[in-house]
Amino acid sequence: MKSTQDLTNKHILVLGYAMTGKSVVDFLVKQGANVTLNDRGDLSTDPSVSFLIEKGVTVVDGGHPLELLDGELDFIVKNPGIPYSIPILKEAMKRQIPIYTDIELSSRYAAGSIVGITGSNGKTTTTALLYEILKNRPSGKAHLAGNIGIPTLDIVQTATDSDIIVMEVSSFQLEGTEQFHPQIAVLTNIFEAHLDYHGNRENYVNAKLKLIANQTANDYLIYNYDQPELHELVADAPSVKVPFSVANVDEYVRSQGVYVEDGVVYYQGKDLFETSLIQIPGEHNVQNVIAAVAVAMIEGVDLDSIKAEIHKYQGMPHRIQPIGEFGGRRYYNDSKATNVTATITALDSFEEPIVYIGGGLDRGNTFEELKAHLKYVKVAALYGETKEKMRESFVEAGVPVVEVFETLEEATAFADREAEVGEVVLFSPSCASWDQFKNYEIRGETFVEAVKQLNK
Ligand code: ADP
Repeated sequence: MKSTQDLTNKHILVLGYAMTGKSVVDFLVKQGANVTLNDRGDLSTDPSVSFLIEKGVTVVDGGHPLELLDGELDFIVKNPGIPYSIPILKEAMKRQIPIYTDIELSSRYAAGSIVGITGSNGKTTTTALLYEILKNRPSGKAHLAGNIGIPTLDIVQTATDSDIIVMEVSSFQLEGTEQFHPQIAVLTNIFEAHLDYHGNRENYVNAKLKLIANQTANDYLIYNYDQPELHELVADAPSVKVPFSVANVDEYVRSQGVYVEDGVVYYQGKDLFETSLIQIPGEHNVQNVIAAVAVAMIEGVDLDSIKAEIHKYQGMPHRIQPIGEFGGRRYYNDSKATNVTATITALDSFEEPIVYIGGGLDRGNTFEELKAHLKYVKVAALYGETKEKMRESFVEAGVPVVEVFETLEEATAFADREAEVGEVVLFSPSCASWDQFKNYEIRGETFVEAVKQLNK
């Protein structure tokens, strides 16, 4: 760990005591800071809290009283999910008290280098693959951290100078940064997202661009060249730019970037491997893979081990996750597709006849946008609150067989009966899970289990 700034006796307010908050408090206490922990929930039943009180942490729960801002306060570290619109944060901004997220502190104290990966989609897929590849770097260890579910400060405490931290960072985390400085930045894409949190697109884009705000000419920026709107956004970045492209290859990309031409992946003119090596489906995943390849090449990982990891990589659970071939039919679990856009990505990933399963919580949206992407769908098995709405759109789009069911298990059983050799069975619900499940993970596991039962 680097000791950039001494935190001894600094007065720091930590807002939110979930996984990240726990790691932040642990880090700050070890640094000798004077910590106040505040959560709107009831912390009295959390056994770890009495230990913190023994360590001298002041704990305030059941709300966010404004009085916490009175007296000495150097800065606030908040959980990334807490919106800036709550009264205590509005007041803190008025008083110009800095508000950070954990990644700001991580960047200040991390030894070694950071690869920061952000974007609207593809963060986790790219981060997880890159971590597997970078484990094979010629020197130093690779660590996985960030939005993928591993608090960054936990990792910072153990990483050494020759290590690299592969960090998935969300726009929520980036919003709370000032000096965050990844030596390698990866920008997978920018779509409209989280406008409820950031207020408008400009704020959202600005938060994403904080990824590169502190980069210098010694750093690298890997970005999506297939999104022309990104070209301008990164134009002024001083870092070495490595564009990646699947669909927009030109002379610039050929000389500087990583790209696909005629089914072959190239890095700055050198051919690396055929895209058929990639096991995870869809063009979007080719983008994710080549973004990771760019980092691996910069880090000097040998080509054979890059290829081996790519071939091995089966993707993240619940994201167009291949779950096996049964009776000549290939099954995919895309339970993470909680909205129409994600399901469009999944539908566009196949060129075989698709037996589609979907439906779920009704958020009041329509399914009109799906219609243009249903040409390979020959059977649809719909369930959940949205089943009737979806049926209408699927029928209008000309899907030959559309049936509705009460449960996911019933829909899956029907799909399993209908699917023929060479076809794809795709569960990509297009809706949130909460009408029938606790979360998308449990929903995905339910689907996988149903498929296994039907095909044992
Ligand atoms: P994130 O971590 O950014 O949410 P994931 O890697 O978990 O992204 O992928 C979530 C979903 O986003 C995938 O199931 C797929 O539908 C879509 N997706 C993934 N990568 C891309 C990409 N490069 N471009 C567009 N959509 C993508």
